Amino acid sequence: MTFSVHGLAVSRGIAIGRAVLVASSRADVAHYFIDAAKTDEEIMRVRDARNAVTEEILRLQKDLPKDAPHELAALLDVHLMLLQDEQLISGVKRWITERHYNAEWALTTQYETIARQFDDMEDEYLRERKADLEQVVERILRRMKGVGSPIQPVGQAGASRKQSQQDLLLDDTMDVPLVLVAHDISPADMLQFKQSLFAGFATDVGGKTSHTAIVARSMDIPAVVGARSGSQLIKQDDWVIIDGDAGVLIVDPSPIILAEYGFKQRQGELERERLNRLKHTPAVTMDGQHIELLANIEMPEDTLGAVKAGAVGVGLFRSEFLFMGRNGKLPDEEEQYLAYRKAIEGMHGLPVTIRTVDVGSDKPLDKLAEKAQDSHLNPAMGLRAIRWSLADPPMFLTQLRAILRSAAHGQVNLLVPMLAHASEIRQTMRLIDHARAILDSRGVPYGPVRLGAMIEIPAAALTLKVFLKYFDFLSIGTNDLIQYTLAIDRADESVAHLYDPCHPAVLRLVADTIAECDAQGKGVSVCGEMAGDPSMTRLLLGLGLRSFSMHPSQILAIKQQILRADTGKLASWAEQVMASEDPAAMLQSY
Ligand code: PEP
Ligand code: MG
Repeated sequence: MTFSVHGLAVSRGIAIGRAVLVASSRADVAHYFIDAAKTDEEIMRVRDARNAVTEEILRLQKDLPKDAPHELAALLDVHLMLLQDEQLISGVKRWITERHYNAEWALTTQYETIARQFDDMEDEYLRERKADLEQVVERILRRMKGVGSPIQPVGQAGASRKQSQQDLLLDDTMDVPLVLVAHDISPADMLQFKQSLFAGFATDVGGKTSHTAIVARSMDIPAVVGARSGSQLIKQDDWVIIDGDAGVLIVDPSPIILAEYGFKQRQGELERERLNRLKHTPAVTMDGQHIELLANIEMPEDTLGAVKAGAVGVGLFRSEFLFMGRNGKLPDEEEQYLAYRKAIEGMHGLPVTIRTVDVGSDKPLDKLAEKAQDSHLNPAMGLRAIRWSLADPPMFLTQLRAILRSAAHGQVNLLVPMLAHASEIRQTMRLIDHARAILDSRGVPYGPVRLGAMIEIPAAALTLKVFLKYFDFLSIGTNDLIQYTLAIDRADESVAHLYDPCHPAVLRLVADTIAECDAQGKGVSVCGEMAGDPSMTRLLLGLGLRSFSMHPSQILAIKQQILRADTGKLASWAEQVMASEDPAAMLQSY
């Protein structure tokens, strides 16, 4: 029966596909399609791993000391029984033979299916067997690790999005579009899906500017976050429509609903085609103002999309994505240098703004760190971004050296996140000088960099003079600026309705930062999600902003707004908006 689940719209468009439920803890399992001829081989991989785990448990059982607690022996019996479970074995086989999922994916999919049944059981003892099943699956996965192929970018999803709805209803083979449904996915795990096979995403938690949502948006596929119990209500393999425009999931849609959404999907595609025609049009307003459209990237490879979208540089390279999901082993100077250099070369001479590492809060380094962070009450206000860097000078110096060295290969801007105190600024400056001195003493070449600071804490926006004394340019991080001005956790869906980019206090801080930079002849841009939101473009232009940094997928929509804008008229209108009690209403009625 058709039902809908409401969440937050984070990435536009409509995706229609079968649900793949992914447990947060298992999002890092490889997901790819195997060749039809290799199904037997793939089944063998799981079987071998399962047999190895069985032997391992039998050995454990044999070596169990005589005085071992009875529960332990019973537990091993349960694990042995689960390893032989017919539903697990036949289900895995089915996912592999019928859907051509790789072994790990098939195993975790079947685990999710059975786990649901355990959840629904009345009997508490049986319900608790879910944890045992999880351990057994974990053991098999560990056995298979290293044997599997890497995650493979598969074109099927994109291609199959063009199928007609009729086909979708009839076709039950591997060529069916898939949508990922999860309780939560960390930004790092999300990143690994970037080149993957999913046509859309939905998660239970997260706000519009949570980093998971930001990565989903950068993938330019429909996504909904904050769908609360969505992953509980949706079953493995259900048909789901992800309406990324309205923030709604429609489960098990009727043919009429499918036809309606198929129509919407085609409308969206047409709109994209129309926007594509603007690719080579310069971003100039009706009154002749040239506007700089820059790209936000997470990985060096993202420069490809940035250039393709017509970005005139990278306004924000979130370098922390190089640091995440590595089990605490941080990238060394050489690895970072090569990554930054790759991004610089990818931009073919256009400027690249590299932000120093901003881990912490909703961007944990890895799962262990995430657990450790959970124990802190307010991770968003804790040791993140520059605070984390200044707490570990050798780590920070390594990154600074890598950035300075990469600057020998092109125009580099070095951007520092989350500064609030003059003392932090001075400390950062000293470390940058120190990094240069180390390179000098080693005789290693490096290049000049322009230095910039993120304005994302209200305290920074209220003390601009000290920032402008030290920095060449400022970049307004509206995602955090909103979070800290309004005291709204940007990743918490339960307060998402209060996360308001148009709150007069937020707009005041943004407007003053732009005006102060203008007055002092310093560069200023916005690199938070506000820059890529077409409903905010006119206001930002009216406030004097001439540089916008956003995900490449947003660039054309923003350019369209710019081409229709007259900054002279917008300046006086912006003044009225700023004076209004309800700026959002004024934006809508323009
Ligand atoms: C911001 O806070 O607006 C920003 C661009 O940084 P991030 O989203 O990575 O915190
Ligand atoms: Mg930020």
